[in-house]
Amino acid sequence: MQSCEDSGVIKTIRCIVCPTGCEIEVKEKPDGEVEFEGYTCKRGLDYAKQEFYEPKRVLTTTIRVENGFLPLVPVRVDKAIAKAKLNDALDIIANTIIKAPIKMGDILIENIAGEDANIIASRDLPILEE
Ligand code: SF4
Repeated sequence: MQSCEDSGVIKTIRCIVCPTGCEIEVKEKPDGEVEFEGYTCKRGLDYAKQEFYEPKRVLTTTIRVENGFLPLVPVRVDKAIAKAKLNDALDIIANTIIKAPIKMGDILIENIAGEDANIIASRDLPILEE
């Protein structure tokens, strides 16, 4: 049986761009160049390159809210950020408290972790009426 190392495969990526779910192999050629095999279309190749060289993720979580109807507001990034920056972004979010009222789509944190993406509210959150 041929191992991944023998075949030059350094990573296998399942394309999630469409339901076909092609398995794309990233191989290192003897000259050190990297090649992609197994994609069926350019969108899959682009996805595999992105995933191999600079994987990105859409971060969804919650932020603490002061004086709100609920203690937490669900939030998300307005565009995917580098996977390598997820922990930095989560640290910033963990140390942030937002004041109610909040409107869905409000930018709560700009330029999170220097990723040129914003953290936005995923719902309205009114003030807690006493
Ligand atoms: S490579 Fe193309 S056909 Fe295959 S899963 Fe990705 S988008 Fe779909």
